[in-house]
Amino acid sequence: MKKEILDRMEVRQGDITRLDADAIVNAANSSLLGGGGVDGAIHRAAGPELLAECRTIGGCPTGEARITKGYHLPARHVIHTVGPVYRGKLRDSTLLAACYENSLRLALENHIRTIAFPAISCGVYGYPIKDACRIAVDTTARFLEAHPLPETVIFILFSAKDRAVYEAYFKTIS
Ligand code: ADP
Repeated sequence: MKKEILDRMEVRQGDITRLDADAIVNAANSSLLGGGGVDGAIHRAAGPELLAECRTIGGCPTGEARITKGYHLPARHVIHTVGPVYRGKLRDSTLLAACYENSLRLALENHIRTIAFPAISCGVYGYPIKDACRIAVDTTARFLEAHPLPETVIFILFSAKDRAVYEAYFKTIS
């Protein structure tokens, strides 16, 4: 992969709610009314104003994305996307790729320079991290090839194990 594209992607380990980025991505559910995992953490850190704005949106289908403000988060915006529940079908990968593509498109439209993604669908929704990582990185790389924004995409993994999966994949494409 081209160095200019690789240089626009970063892998980190940590808590996405602490990240000072223009936008963080939430692995939401289709109600957009909060849940467990990273969704619960983002709502707790953003405060009740986030839920109030989400209520006005009226939900989001799987694979699509919606943008809100970040409220009490260090991040200025939250891009909520709904990952597929993993069922081992080809359609799951199409929907997961759509989450990354649609989130990046919203970032571009909103002039977002720095965006951070958690491992969408890799918690309660059961997507195998290795497959999800490949989809996340390949879809993002294709988008960055075609667009000047976002300038930087951070993949932020909660566990050391997930971070190692991303780092190993970047080694194979560098
Ligand atoms: P999904 O329902 O899409 O599977 P989850 O929230 O259950 O979403 O998990 C998605 C990923 O987010 C998992 O890999 C989980 O370890 C990770 N995660 C949970 N909390 C945080 C956090 N605060 N920051 C970053 N990643 C997180």
